[in-house]
Amino acid sequence: MVTKGLRLGQKHNKLGKETTMKKFTCREMSGEMNCGCDFVLEGEKAMDIAMKSHAHVMATTDEAHKPMREQMTIKTKHSEEEQKKWWTWFNAKWDKKKTGINGMHKQNYKN
Ligand SMILES: [Zn+2]
Repeated sequence: MVTKGLRLGQKHNKLGKETTMKKFTCREMSGEMNCGCDFVLEGEKAMDIAMKSHAHVMATTDEAHKPMREQMTIKTKHSEEEQKKWWTWFNAKWDKKKTGINGMHKQNYKN
């Protein structure tokens, strides 16, 4: 995946401290569905990204996001078990993801 649109300066905040923000693309969030777009979501917590991803996908109307919209819509009706499964998946991705610019490298999540 390309990393266009990222600025190197984003790695450090005004105090010169490295931020703990992590970045995921919309497509990464789609997991095995491998759809969505290259929109970048960032946050300090897994929950932040999950919320932003949800808001972003639910605001779309195109075909690229359709599988994700459907999953999110269905998910609300799903059992607690299903939600836990999703969080387990996402937290594993979150832990592997590095903070800052290096975190944008394409990761293989097909296994
Ligand atoms: Zn998107």
